[in-house]
Amino acid sequence: MGTRLRYAAMVLVVSGLLLGSTPPVWAAPERQGTTIHIVQWGEYLALIANRYGVTTNAILQANGLTNPNFIYAGQSLIIPTGAAPAPPSGETTTYVVQRGDTLGTVAARFGTTASHLASLNGLWNPNFIYVGQVLKVPGTASPSSSAPPETSQGTCTYSVKPGDTLTKIALQHGTTVWALTIANNLANPSFIWVGQGLEIPGCSQGAAPAPPPPAPVAGGPRAVIIVIWDGTQRAHLLEMLNGGQLPNLTAFAAENQPLTWPVIKSETCRPGSQAGYRTETGPGNSAIATGLGYTGMANWANDDPHPIPDGLTLWEWFKGRGYTTGIVSSKDLPFWPNTTLNNARGEIDYWKVARQPQSWVTDNALTFIRTYAGSRFFLWIHYQEPDTLGHSNGENSAEYSQGLVIDDRELGRIVGELRARGMLDETLLILTTDHGFNEGGTQHDTCSADTKDLFLAVNNRGRGLTGCVRYQTDITPCIWALY
Ligand SMILES: [Zn+2]
Repeated sequence: MGTRLRYAAMVLVVSGLLLGSTPPVWAAPERQGTTIHIVQWGEYLALIANRYGVTTNAILQANGLTNPNFIYAGQSLIIPTGAAPAPPSGETTTYVVQRGDTLGTVAARFGTTASHLASLNGLWNPNFIYVGQVLKVPGTASPSSSAPPETSQGTCTYSVKPGDTLTKIALQHGTTVWALTIANNLANPSFIWVGQGLEIPGCSQGAAPAPPPPAPVAGGPRAVIIVIWDGTQRAHLLEMLNGGQLPNLTAFAAENQPLTWPVIKSETCRPGSQAGYRTETGPGNSAIATGLGYTGMANWANDDPHPIPDGLTLWEWFKGRGYTTGIVSSKDLPFWPNTTLNNARGEIDYWKVARQPQSWVTDNALTFIRTYAGSRFFLWIHYQEPDTLGHSNGENSAEYSQGLVIDDRELGRIVGELRARGMLDETLLILTTDHGFNEGGTQHDTCSADTKDLFLAVNNRGRGLTGCVRYQTDITPCIWALY
């Protein structure tokens, strides 16, 4: 397939996610003339669908899948090649999720199933719906909630309307999700409800609505940098942001995309261990680097690490596309990255891994950036802190906070370098964590919200990622989709 067509297919998938729209749902295809396709590394659903001349939804339905972004290399997919898809059932209306609703109760109300609703709405996790969320449901009732929300005039308070999201409200008022979150002391930006009064910061100044971001450039960003703050508990991070202790992250989120709050993939919570699950650094980073769960990346535990199978990491992906690749990490333990990346070592041009202070990590990262500024590059920057400080002093300790303060300072150095070189707009810069931390504890050995809730900051190059993570998919399939 030509680059242009391939790119167009990707854009369709990504824009569908961003807009929350879903292609029409087709009737279940007849099982005549099916083909089995083994997913290859780098393939995505729209590409496969295009190759066989079927829709992505037909493949999703044939395989009982709900998330078009989550397929993995080696997976067997049933391709309903001989099936003539039924006409699209365009008759849908919308329903606004109320308190106490589950996808099951909504489905029952509209005479359908939870899995159909999940498919219809592109939900990856059917257990995750929220009050005020607008769901497509089968039926022809007049969509009473489709009128555009109106802002209150002459006041700085906005009353949440059906269908609103914080992102939508922020765009309408020329502000950011982050600013709204701070102004209203929201614990969870995904959780607002109809009728809630929100303070709009700066609304009296008549701020103009923000223009829509420019479309991604074919061929992907010139440089991609992923920064990991190992073991950052989301609630702790929010406290520090509210306290003004992380000025560089605050500025970054204000200037770029607002912070988003993904939840770690369930597969990165280790099955069968303490209390059923736990989160760990090796699997957490491996999940980020591959977009895969435990089975696909073969890296199950810190204390029993395995090399990720050949060809599955971002380094190999970028190397194959002519990028110079690098990793700088202050974690030199066997599980990350020393064993986990054994198969990728040959595709990693610059390897600086040692137990060193955060400033050493940044020093080497800046050396890499200065050396390869003239070419396309991919760099993974991994700070061991605050994870190690949490293990030694506890999540509530001053040391843990100080680890984040220094991570934030180092972020400022990286952003400053990119800005000074005029590279910021050409670089996709991603900041996230591999897992959280037990509240008040010295471990991250549960799969509770304290450990599986993540944060994600991306610059303006990463708007596609923001949409992807809002749907709780991993960032890696979204990186592929930028190309
Ligand atoms: Zn740890």
